[in-house]
Amino acid sequence: MKTEANVQRSTFNAQRSTQNEISELFEKNVVPSYARFDLVIERGEGSYAWDVDGRRYLDLAGGIAVCSLGHAHAEITAALAEQSRKLVHVSNLYYHEPQGRLAGCIVDLIGPGRVFFCNSGAEANEGLFKLARKFGHAEGRYDIISACESFHGRTLAGIAATGQEKVKKGFEPAVTGFKHVPFNDLESMRKAITSSTVAILIEPIQGESGITIATPEYLIDLRQLCDEHNLLLLFDEVQAGHFRTGRFQSWQRILENEKLDFTPDAVSMAKGLGGGFPIGAFWIREKFANVLSAGTHASTFGGSPLACAVALRIFHVIEREDLATNARRLGDVLLRELQMLARKFPQVLREVRGLGLMIGLEFEPTIEAFSRPDKSPAIQIVDRLHEKGVLTVPAARSVVRLLPALNLSKGEGGEGLRVIREVVEDLDRESRVENRES
Ligand SMILES: *Cc1c(COP(=O)(O)O)cnc(C)c1O
Repeated sequence: MKTEANVQRSTFNAQRSTQNEISELFEKNVVPSYARFDLVIERGEGSYAWDVDGRRYLDLAGGIAVCSLGHAHAEITAALAEQSRKLVHVSNLYYHEPQGRLAGCIVDLIGPGRVFFCNSGAEANEGLFKLARKFGHAEGRYDIISACESFHGRTLAGIAATGQEKVKKGFEPAVTGFKHVPFNDLESMRKAITSSTVAILIEPIQGESGITIATPEYLIDLRQLCDEHNLLLLFDEVQAGHFRTGRFQSWQRILENEKLDFTPDAVSMAKGLGGGFPIGAFWIREKFANVLSAGTHASTFGGSPLACAVALRIFHVIEREDLATNARRLGDVLLRELQMLARKFPQVLREVRGLGLMIGLEFEPTIEAFSRPDKSPAIQIVDRLHEKGVLTVPAARSVVRLLPALNLSKGEGGEGLRVIREVVEDLDRESRVENRES
């Protein structure tokens, strides 16, 4: 006879085995290039995700700044279904409406220029590198200067552009033509420019290395430096872009109180643009629109009707529901509350930085509570948040990032705050106890 408890236990065991079976499939068949958390996610709805055991998580990770409308958004589903009934793919040998309209949206929000579509952030940056090389080719200029602690993707040129040793190790020889200087440091940038420099590439907000925001002066001075030396100013907005900071691109938010006309020369985008459907893009200022002339750059899948229809629908929903304002207001509230928490527990939470719904919490890496020598403090915090049902993203060694959906509600934000507060209080208490004991 099956008692209720037995039924529950056997369902539980069945689910456990599902979880194990799935992770075993990975261990046996998937390239082990990712350090994965011990979670098997099965479905999502808005800002919640469920694992195979039916456990619910508040998703403040947003697929690493990808799921701009959260999970299983009905209008993304509708756009996919409607467009797929008409035309999933057509080559770039022909014109089609969704790509033309999507390019128009991006141009309207950045400024006069042209857009190229690809499928990821690394690919979008690859396009920027080719643009820069083509631009400087006649004069033999090809050096691109980027920032220390930057992240620009995992292709060979992407890791060469990235200012972090860990992504380059073992893949030498590096693609030539990339130099790195400290971020937010104009003098170092000025000194690094030579007669072979062709472009400067930065993330207006560095994401992977732990949310570091460019100062308005730095951006303005870089623009001037580029004008003086005839260099292209390239922005990687793959993570910080797409309304996450409250404006379309993060430099627009950083500079919104400066009374000036500011335009970079090219901008890469991806992550939030397709809300989870793979699409990348780069915008080029009109002045340089013909540098990548016919035959110089291409992508088979880039700007497919399906990808563009989804991205268009996301633009539409963001505008209709004014999600840029939601990202700004809710982001500002979360930032303020978390900064208050940091002031209360500075021995645990060193600093909280962010703009809109892109927030980094920097923890004190040396506290006793980080007792696992095999895991970085960031991973240990993310683990603790998982145990309490919240998804976040580690960055660098001791930063945890919040990159939730742009339609996160106040209530969901508050729920996240409560759990983060609990974890900070736990860390504080545990570290005190350890200190007393030792
Ligand atoms: C994620 C990211 C990339 C790489 O994007 P992929 O789609 O993973 O290739 C590039 N630049 C920045 C700033 C990113 O955050």
